[in-house]
Amino acid sequence: MKYTRLGIFSEKEHVSRGYATLLYDLSAQIDSNLIDQNENTFKTYDLIIIDFTTKKNRYLVDILINHYYQHAKIVVVSPYNLNEINTLLKSSECVDLFLTKPFDINRLTLFIQNHSRLIDRKMMLEAKNSILAEVVDLNPSRIAVFTSSGILFYANSHYLEANKIDISQIDILHFNTITKCKIGFEVLTYELKNSTSFMIQREEEKRWYESYFYRLSQDYIVHNCEDITLRKKYEIQLEQSAIFFEQSSEALMISNKNGSILSVNAAFCRITGYSKEEAIGETPKLLNSGMHDAAFYHSMWNSLIYNGRWQGEIWNKRKNGEIYPEWLSISKATSPKYNEEFYISVFTDISSIKETDRKLYFYANHDPLTGLANRVQFESQLKKTIDSAKRRNDKLGILFIDLDKFKEVNDTYGHTIGDMMLKSVTKRLSDSIRSDDFISRLGGDEFVIIASNINEYEGILALASKLSEAIREPIVIDGKVFFMTLSIGIAIYPEHGENSEDLIKHADAAMYEVKENGRNGYMLYHSSFSEKLTHKVETQNELKIALDEDQFELFYQPIIDLYTNKVMGAEALVRWHHPIKGLLYPASFISFIENSELIYEFGMLICKKAFRDLATFNARIKCDEPFSLSINIATKQFFEDNFVTKLSTLAEDFSVDPHQIELEILETQVMKNPEVAQIKFHDLHDLGFELALDDFGTGYSSLSYLKNFTIDKLKVDQSFVRDLLIDENDRAIVQTIITMSKIFNMRVQAEGVESSEHEAILKSMGCELAQGYLYSKPIPLEAFVDWCENYRVTNE
Ligand code: C2E
Ligand code: CA
Ligand code: CA
Repeated sequence: MKYTRLGIFSEKEHVSRGYATLLYDLSAQIDSNLIDQNENTFKTYDLIIIDFTTKKNRYLVDILINHYYQHAKIVVVSPYNLNEINTLLKSSECVDLFLTKPFDINRLTLFIQNHSRLIDRKMMLEAKNSILAEVVDLNPSRIAVFTSSGILFYANSHYLEANKIDISQIDILHFNTITKCKIGFEVLTYELKNSTSFMIQREEEKRWYESYFYRLSQDYIVHNCEDITLRKKYEIQLEQSAIFFEQSSEALMISNKNGSILSVNAAFCRITGYSKEEAIGETPKLLNSGMHDAAFYHSMWNSLIYNGRWQGEIWNKRKNGEIYPEWLSISKATSPKYNEEFYISVFTDISSIKETDRKLYFYANHDPLTGLANRVQFESQLKKTIDSAKRRNDKLGILFIDLDKFKEVNDTYGHTIGDMMLKSVTKRLSDSIRSDDFISRLGGDEFVIIASNINEYEGILALASKLSEAIREPIVIDGKVFFMTLSIGIAIYPEHGENSEDLIKHADAAMYEVKENGRNGYMLYHSSFSEKLTHKVETQNELKIALDEDQFELFYQPIIDLYTNKVMGAEALVRWHHPIKGLLYPASFISFIENSELIYEFGMLICKKAFRDLATFNARIKCDEPFSLSINIATKQFFEDNFVTKLSTLAEDFSVDPHQIELEILETQVMKNPEVAQIKFHDLHDLGFELALDDFGTGYSSLSYLKNFTIDKLKVDQSFVRDLLIDENDRAIVQTIITMSKIFNMRVQAEGVESSEHEAILKSMGCELAQGYLYSKPIPLEAFVDWCENYRVTNE
């Protein structure tokens, strides 16, 4: 009864001992007061016992009762009986218990006990209420209660603060003026009609809030608003992880410690062919290809257990039974929250990478055009074959094969036809060898065959012959018929070399020898070939230097009009100032240039030098007609795609009039590709260049072509001129050429005119122009200018 506040009011100075002891026992707080105390000092009591003994104080007792009756229980103890009390006191009906003498102490005790219990309960409820109010107030959520008409009925301090509401506005403000929920009170009540609660989330200044509404009896609606930013962040993260998981291009599989698959993503389904439903709940054994043994899985598990991860290539099986390689990495993950272990497997299907690897390997070792082994593989194969021949004391042969005149096919018909040609040749060669022979393409039109297990030279020569025969059959590409031949050089192990380098070099030298001897054939290596080849390589190297260091000079040989005796022009003939060997004539080096790529640079250099010298001729040589300068153009250079453009640009650069330039092209070379030549002649002629067919008579030109060529001059080859005086046949040939030139309206010139007898007979045959030692050897520019001056003086 410690909550009961008991007040005892007595007219006596002291509360009589009798009840004091009693009441002390009953209550913790006893306030004894004299009844005459001032009204204002009255305290709030739960129970008041009034000792009412004299009639004179009855108004005071009335006041006391009146003041307290509403919240305290009133007990009146008096010697008067109930009727007397009722008449004495106005407010006697407010007395809860009236006791008169003799006191029934038990009754009083019971009353006080009962009443104290009630008070206790009430006070407890009050205390609880105030604590609850505080709890709600301090709750981090924003809590408010609205009446059913939407008026704010209660709000905790967070709610007030967040909505900037003053406490005085409670019971005044309406939900619609307060809320930031983007929802009207009408909608809210409508929603709550259908369900017990309603939730809405919103984002405000980068934070997330969740409002939760529910009805509290029919009359109130509670609004609980929580800051869910953290939760939301986590949710978003989770969502993103889920998206990442699902949309990752790599297959993902999560399984638990027991090996049960818990989750797989779309890529997993795509790669394995299993749907999520089929995979989840199964174990990864579902994918087992049977390709790996127990030891493989054992080491995988060991790594997982001790390192927490495993990574490597593994062959698995798809649902359709197809076995494929994947790059798999598994990591162990532990969830601290659930104290559980998971295995996260990430894998990619690497069958296409494997395929690429295979292709890469193939391309590294093969020639993509023909599919034959390339140089890399050839060299390693040759070493292997030599090793095994050495062990078995065997011979082996290397056939170095070059497709004759392939370059011409390529230049004339283009690379597509050229490629098709190489493929046809590859097929024919491959079909002609035995299965244990090895064929490869070294590049361009060069093939090499390693023939192992040969005992006699005859065997390998027979193979060479068979290959030649196979190619000799006409090759038809794109409706065009080609007649091709091979040049084959052969080296035999161990006779022609004991290591791969020597064998290759010597087979190459033998092949080169075949080329030199007019191609289309095969030849075994001989030591003299090497010297030739060495010479070739050395000379080509020296020529490169010669080009860089400008060791070339043009000499000039005059061209004479046999009827007027005047100098008409000159032919430019190249000389090489070799740093050691001195002055070299074209015979010793020109073929090395013309048969290599050097010719393009060299050819332009000659033209440049000649164009530059033309200015000197024009300035210092006195002629009636413009001086004509003849330049020798090599076949390769002439057939080069942009030759015409390059030459005309160069002429412009040197301000050269093309009419003063005569281009000499070998008749034999032109006739190899008359169609292209005709076009080039036409173009050059249009630009103003003069054209001459050099060494005419050696090339069996067909008359039909000659007729169409825009050629200005035929140069009778010196071999016919040399024996003109003694050989009737040559004379007949020369005569025919001269006559033909007249028919085709071309000029005709004899070269190699060494004597006046030659000159006389040529003149009698109708030859217009001559060139030869009779007049002058080819000489340097300055000497030539002087010679011209002398010649003019003596002959005019
Ligand atoms: P080619 O065009 O037939 O030149 C004529 C050759 O005959 C020259 O030899 C010349 O010196 C020689 N010759 C001239 N008159 C007589 C003579 O009365 N008797 C004899 N026996 N020979 C005579 P060269 O200068 O040694 O040139 C040889 C070949 O080299 C030339 O034959 C030509 O095909 C080539 N050549 C010379 N210079 C060049 C050049 O600048 N470019 C190219 N591509 N080839 C050139
Ligand atoms: Ca010439
Ligand atoms: Ca000539």
